[in-house]
Amino acid sequence: MKTDERLTPAASAYDYPLLIRQLLHVPLTQARDTEIVYADQRRHDYATFGARLARLANALGTFGIRPGDTVAVMDWDSHRYLECFFAVPMTGAVLHTINIRLSPGQILYTINHAHDDLIFVHADFMPIIDEIRDDFDRDIRIVPLADYEALLEAADPDYAFPDFDERTRATTFYTTGTTGLPKGVYFTHRQLVLHSLGFMAGVNAVDGHGRFHRDDVYMPLTPMFHVHAWGAPYVATMLGAKQVYPGRYEPAALLRLIAAESVTLSHCVPTILQMLLSHPAAQTTDLSRWKVIIGGAALPPGLARRALDLGIDIYAAYGMSETCPLLTAATLTNDMLARDDDQRLQLRCKTGRPVPLVDLRVVDPDGNEMPRDGRTTGEVCVRAPWLTPGYLGEQERSEELWSDGYLHTGDVGHIDAEGFLQITDRIKDVIKSGGEWISSLELEGLISQHDAVDRVAVIGVPDATWGERPLALIVPVDTEHADADAIRAHVRGYVDRGILSRWAMPERIEFVTTIPLTSVGKIDKKKLREEFS
Ligand code: AMP
Repeated sequence: MKTDERLTPAASAYDYPLLIRQLLHVPLTQARDTEIVYADQRRHDYATFGARLARLANALGTFGIRPGDTVAVMDWDSHRYLECFFAVPMTGAVLHTINIRLSPGQILYTINHAHDDLIFVHADFMPIIDEIRDDFDRDIRIVPLADYEALLEAADPDYAFPDFDERTRATTFYTTGTTGLPKGVYFTHRQLVLHSLGFMAGVNAVDGHGRFHRDDVYMPLTPMFHVHAWGAPYVATMLGAKQVYPGRYEPAALLRLIAAESVTLSHCVPTILQMLLSHPAAQTTDLSRWKVIIGGAALPPGLARRALDLGIDIYAAYGMSETCPLLTAATLTNDMLARDDDQRLQLRCKTGRPVPLVDLRVVDPDGNEMPRDGRTTGEVCVRAPWLTPGYLGEQERSEELWSDGYLHTGDVGHIDAEGFLQITDRIKDVIKSGGEWISSLELEGLISQHDAVDRVAVIGVPDATWGERPLALIVPVDTEHADADAIRAHVRGYVDRGILSRWAMPERIEFVTTIPLTSVGKIDKKKLREEFS
């Protein structure tokens, strides 16, 4: 490209780096009195939050933490965690959010692999640290979170957060995957800032519902270790919105907090909402001002209906650890909100439309884009400014993730003419029967709409004639009246109406007492396949 000599910036023009620090302008100047709440234990305002970030940065300095070092956290969702989201990367260090639901052996692996230098540890997780600390491969400073307040109090309240390259790594998190060792994804300051803007633009692009704004009261229900609670704490802070951190997730306490703090926006996997709505207190708690974004797994229409009946503004979103995570959101335009009840429900449960800046396509194995006809499936491949550039220290897996310059999600789906993506399966969960693909997620969605079904998982099991056939595992609402024939008749209804292919009808239905979940609360299909194949 020809250079344009007229473009000589002023000598003192500021080359604004997209640093996490820059998310603080609004909260620290316009929302100084707005509160950050920690369960029923603590509340302070953004002005205090700002001072605490400086104190935390100084405390880290006294522990010898320097730019490029790694600071890890093992905590429930707390104001402390939020402070680490900001202060750690703002000093130039890297925040490792430890996945506390991994096994001790896996946690040890991630601590060594991420080169942690210091770990803040909640008392509940100290037994894990005691179990694995002899196998740390370097000197790691363990700081009990019981000492956190005293540390901050003793620290200097002034700290000049420096400018540095926006492409500096800010965070690291390990995804479990279903096979092999955990993989580390990582994000730079620039990526987290752009993700915050993209998230806000994406969910606020509609007029009538689902928005995330300054007057919201935000409370995460996706743990903060899991891709920064979807990056939503960064968005809430950037907006200067009130925030509530609930500590350990316990249904009665969560419902109490929603009511007491007037929480208006949360996000979670379907199983968490299921657990909340099944709690008796849900019947007596006013949830009519609550917006809930569901991701991490398909939003079952049965659950969406139950939530809508309680007045909850519920909709799906989609992403993965590798994508920071947000890629799509199922917010509805006014035109869509004016459609009939069933159509609206369907749209809310679809995987959503890509948010601004996300280039998302569904492709065949040769990389050809599939028609946007709402039917033809392929692998979902993406580009966006906030995707992990690779897996930490794993070149081969990184190249695989990014083959042909697109991030390969490993998800199968189709896109319709309005741009709505529908994920139909993980590539490895898809059921291949007699040469046809059967979507386990579609079957789960339809079966979940039967009144007797509390939870359902559909897997493919080996079949001598067809390769695989679907098996539906159902946790009934009431074991005494569990009736497989009634479920079959319900599914047949969709076949008769042309909604489901006859071939997808599961002959095998089994009632179970529980469905195993992964460390992040999703149906563990690998385990189910091992058990039922
Ligand atoms: P994780 O990396 O643990 O956040 O998991 C990401 C995976 O969850 C994606 O690759 C999808 O398979 C699945 N997922 C996330 N959101 C949705 C959704 N709305 N519908 C269906 N599957 C989803």
